[in-house]
Amino acid sequence: AKGRGRGMHVSYRQAMRGQLEERALLERDLKNALKLGEISVSFQPIVANDGKTVVCQEALMRWNHPERGAVSPEVFIPIAEDALLIGPLGEWLLRTACHEAVNWSDDVKLTVNVSALQLNNRSFLGTVVEALAASGLAPERLVLEITESIVLEMDEELEGLIRSLTDIGVSFALDDFGRGYSSLNYIEKMQFSMIKIDRDFVQAASSGSLKSQAIVTAIVSLAQSLDMVVTAEGIEADEQAIAMRALGCTCFQGYFYGAPTESVARTVDGAAEIED
Ligand code: C2E
Ligand code: CA
Ligand code: CA
Ligand code: CA
Repeated sequence: AKGRGRGMHVSYRQAMRGQLEERALLERDLKNALKLGEISVSFQPIVANDGKTVVCQEALMRWNHPERGAVSPEVFIPIAEDALLIGPLGEWLLRTACHEAVNWSDDVKLTVNVSALQLNNRSFLGTVVEALAASGLAPERLVLEITESIVLEMDEELEGLIRSLTDIGVSFALDDFGRGYSSLNYIEKMQFSMIKIDRDFVQAASSGSLKSQAIVTAIVSLAQSLDMVVTAEGIEADEQAIAMRALGCTCFQGYFYGAPTESVARTVDGAAEIED
């Protein structure tokens, strides 16, 4: 038993070292990914209650690694944040997505994921203003998706930034609702135009969890009184949409309606040249 314990310990350390090396390699490659044209953007629709009308397209970042193929944003976004690469990557994505969105019908909005690190950067307001100006996209068509963790970090500076963005017409969606904290206090702290219920939560609520259903019902009634749209994420089957619609969700997103698809224009003049 002793020997086995030691063996496990060694293999654990090896596994840890392997992970760190893996991360270092990815970080090294990510530094050059933008200028090598390996980064692109996919769009996934959010549909209205009729299950057909597209109301938004969410921009999702893609990294096509020359040897590894597609690396998940769930893997590379945290690395980008740690390595301070999220700034240039996020700026590229915003500019590219805005350029794409001007070609859509006027009633389709663009949603872009922004991480806490991006919002905490003093240049973020300027980045958004420039991306809108360069593309000609109306600010009212841009929705920034943020998570609860940002709202918990709310201070005067962040409040000021959110007010400035709201003043120019940009709006906010609360992403991944139900994944983290159970407190709803943060919804009072700022105005959201949309709340997106996390895929795992949709899964639970639509497969009969009474607790999850009660929380969805509560958030829906709160949303109605505060003029917010509630989107159910990760809908893979019609039954899930039916269940979430019965609970009061009015917008839907997921493979059932459409997987993220890569845009034709992989790069935009100028946008690909942004570097840190
Ligand atoms: P998210 O913002 O919650 O995005 C939804 C994720 O769920 C996407 O994964 C999408 O492809 C996936 N998805 C959509 N419908 C379904 C479905 O029906 N079933 C299942 N199983 N999955 C579905 P993706 O593109 O891999 O992105 C993962 C996460 O990476 C995103 O989660 C977001 O947090 C982050 N991310 C992606 N692009 C960006 C970006 O440009 N900036 C930042 N800061 N984060 C990003
Ligand atoms: Ca680092
Ligand atoms: Ca999102
Ligand atoms: Ca989400």
